[in-house]
Amino acid sequence: MNDGAPHLYVVLTYVPRLTTVPVGALGPVAFERGWYAYVGSAARARRARVARHLAPFKPLRWHADYLFAAFPARRAWLVDGAAGECELAGALAALPSAARRPGRFGAGDCRCAGHLVRFARRPRRADVTSAVGQNGAVCAFSVGSRKESVTGGD
Ligand SMILES: [Zn+2]
Repeated sequence: MNDGAPHLYVVLTYVPRLTTVPVGALGPVAFERGWYAYVGSAARARRARVARHLAPFKPLRWHADYLFAAFPARRAWLVDGAAGECELAGALAALPSAARRPGRFGAGDCRCAGHLVRFARRPRRADVTSAVGQNGAVCAFSVGSRKESVTGGD
C-alpha cells in the first residue's frame, strides 16, 4: 500500500426519527430521519479507530462520537484509493438521495462542507465503491462477534 495515501473509512448509522443531539462544539444538531455515512481517516491504526467508532461506550471526543452514542454504528467499510476524506464525502454526497448534512460535521481540521452524508435510502458497499472510483478498494469491516445481525431500517 502506498504510505502516502489516506487511510479512510466510512461508518454507517441510521436515525429512525428526527432527533436533536448535542454534538460537542457544534451544539445541538437536528438529525433528520435517514441513513448517515461518516467519512473518517486514520493515519495509522485504522482498524482500532473504526472499532472504537463501533464500540458502545467511550469518552465523547469527536463529532462522530456524539452521533454514534445516540445512534449506534451499524456497519463500516475500509476505503483505499480515495484522494481524501473531504473528497470521498463529496463523492458520496453526489450520489442519488444523498447530501452532506449537517454541515461542517467532522470537519474541524479542514474547510470542506462536512464529513457526514445523509442518505434517504440505505447506502450499500457498491455505493461507496462507485464514490471512490475505479482505483479504489472498499472492504467490509467487522469486529469479533459483531456480525451482520444488526437489523432494521430497511
Ligand atoms: Zn473535509
